[in-house]
Amino acid sequence: METLRRIASALSDIVIDLDGVVYKGTKLIDGADAAIKMFRQNGKRVHFLTNSSAKGRVAVAERLCSLGVDCFAREVMTSATASAIYLQSVGYRNIFVIGEESLRNEIREYRIEVTDNPGKADALLVGLDSQFSYQKLADAMICLSNGCKFVICNRDASYPVDNGQRLPGCGPIVAAVEVASGRNADVDIGKPNKFMLDALLGDNYCSRNIAIVGDGLTSDMALAARIGSAGIYIDDSAKCACRHDDFFMFRSLYEFSAWLCRAL
Ligand SMILES: [Mg+2]
Repeated sequence: METLRRIASALSDIVIDLDGVVYKGTKLIDGADAAIKMFRQNGKRVHFLTNSSAKGRVAVAERLCSLGVDCFAREVMTSATASAIYLQSVGYRNIFVIGEESLRNEIREYRIEVTDNPGKADALLVGLDSQFSYQKLADAMICLSNGCKFVICNRDASYPVDNGQRLPGCGPIVAAVEVASGRNADVDIGKPNKFMLDALLGDNYCSRNIAIVGDGLTSDMALAARIGSAGIYIDDSAKCACRHDDFFMFRSLYEFSAWLCRAL
């Protein structure tokens, strides 16, 4: 933990994952709101970075506010909003979307057409889809056999919900499309790739002054390692806070915030 103590005062920005760190399902995790207040009171900028494709940044900011966490939409990035920003930046016009209606709406917010005709699409976007079906898989195959760009929101295997259970994530749906079509995704928007972080913070940040906080090893901690930032791994089943080879482990966001305040 000594290394983290040394860099605590240099940290300017704390980038926090949401599912499993701030909330589980519809419930705020104990102390997460107090932790975020403590970071801010100690002069740290707080941002929220989620692989979730189920909501855009405005809806997530509203949800955080309703749970008692003050935040502006500009402090949030989701893989739904980041996918829309990406698709707009490369100029795709007709997108076939596997995902929730909220993902389609986020794409339309950025003035991009969402098409129901897989033969007409120039890109296929795959996000988490609770109504995923054999028919949608067949439509995705038509898109990809026509040479569509293949864009995915993330490869997360699962995500936590209220009752301690986990539900299937976007990754299993992506895997089904990849196996059926024989093509690998061309672009993966979500963590551990840094596209979402760049979309959130802009070009002008220094990785050494950032902490990436999350409960995902292959997403959050892999992103921290990739950009050379401090990784703060949250594991509520851990026995104690400790240092691992590539990251620092705490049992909750609150425990990390209390530790950080003492270190400053
Ligand atoms: Mg998470």
